[in-house]
Amino acid sequence: EVRVRFAPSPTGNLHIGGARTALFNWLIAKKYGGKMILRVEDTDQSRSTIESEQALRRDLEWLGITCDEEPGPDKDSPDKGDNGPYRQSQRLHIYDKYVDLLEQQDKVYKDFCTDEELEQMREEAKANHSAPIYTGKWAKASKDEVQEMLDKGAPFCYRARVPLDKEIVIDDLVRGPITFKCDTLGDFVVKRSNGMPVYNFAVAVDDHLMKITHVLRAEEHLPNTQRQVIIHDYLFKADEPRAAFGHVSLILGPNQKKLSKRDGATSVGEFKELGYLPEALIDYLSQLGWNDGTEQEFHSVEELKEQFSIERMIKSPAVFDLNKLNNTNSHYLRQMPREQLHKLFGEQWVKSGLLNKADSPFVHSAVDLLHTSVGVLGECNQRLKDCLDYPLEETLKSEDGQIFMHVEVAREILEAAESGKLHDVLQNGHDTYAAWVKEEDGDVKDKGSFVTLDERLERLRTQLKEREG
Ligand code: GLU
Repeated sequence: EVRVRFAPSPTGNLHIGGARTALFNWLIAKKYGGKMILRVEDTDQSRSTIESEQALRRDLEWLGITCDEEPGPDKDSPDKGDNGPYRQSQRLHIYDKYVDLLEQQDKVYKDFCTDEELEQMREEAKANHSAPIYTGKWAKASKDEVQEMLDKGAPFCYRARVPLDKEIVIDDLVRGPITFKCDTLGDFVVKRSNGMPVYNFAVAVDDHLMKITHVLRAEEHLPNTQRQVIIHDYLFKADEPRAAFGHVSLILGPNQKKLSKRDGATSVGEFKELGYLPEALIDYLSQLGWNDGTEQEFHSVEELKEQFSIERMIKSPAVFDLNKLNNTNSHYLRQMPREQLHKLFGEQWVKSGLLNKADSPFVHSAVDLLHTSVGVLGECNQRLKDCLDYPLEETLKSEDGQIFMHVEVAREILEAAESGKLHDVLQNGHDTYAAWVKEEDGDVKDKGSFVTLDERLERLRTQLKEREG
């Protein structure tokens, strides 16, 4: 059975890169009928928060990325799945057990070096132009020397022994065979003096115990893979094969450097806030490091679940192109049923304070008039403002007094809504306002000869069409 995982550290927002990793793993689970596991990597207690975990999980949910096994909503509620706990901070006893096991086999050892001694080693390595690897005496210390330090209560960490001539070979799913030499790696820390496991140790243990078959992530994790494989082989080689590793390239910004804040929105939450649709983000992200080998421009999530394949992941750098994302978003916006657009736009207009009712004939008319010019939901605010400000007022006034009237009225109403005085304006207003209120209340009993906003907008639309030829 295929088992993949998404393993975020809950220290911030879900970024585009993390979302892409989650998506690829999820698509593999879907395509190959496997399971997706969410593992929360919160051993860095000073930076991890439950709020951040919850926000990450909300963003995943918004994207539609569901997990088959995951922690409960908080530390007191039960997990979903039989391979938990799924938060690393709740697995410390497990890591301890494996550190002890490796110590018995002399694959890890206690290191009592002080920070000053470690710093001195680094300085010496620098002076000799050699690799900054551990050269301390504790790699070869006698039992008595160790006992003496323990009796003194000296703090210590654990290090894994890494012979300098060791070589690790993996057959990367994306990059093909990769050989890691260990001559500059040295004995690395697996458990800190504060009792916390080091990230690479915890991951190797967890990927094995959670029966992960494929580890797919960005290339920045390649150095981690080397360490994780060493730990895995020390612990489990005899009875279990390793997971297959695949490293997709980083997502670059337009300047060909790693996508970062200076490139604008980079987190899922920001895109959500700007009014992007989850199906557009999913489609766009799927193309950053994978393609279906055809000319097909857009991919629904249902199609992706069918089409995605490990073989077609590519290692060439993926450049984040906002125009393409916008294009994709506009495609999904145009595809939406009209009622859904009414709802989405209406909610935006209320959220931005332009209107105070999300559903009304006015909203429907405005959406019908504007929706094709909106690429990203957030733009609908400006479009409505534009439409009500210029140039209609100026250009249409001489041609059709009633339409001018509408524009003016609508604008006044909007201004009043913005400043929270809508009620007063309506109370003191003339017929048009009164009719508008009735419209808003859905209580138009006797329209008589009165032209409703709806009808006015209909005329406006016709006029616009004529204007634009
Ligand atoms: N917690 C790691 C991160 O957020 C996970 C990396 C991995 O996939 O192993 O970068």
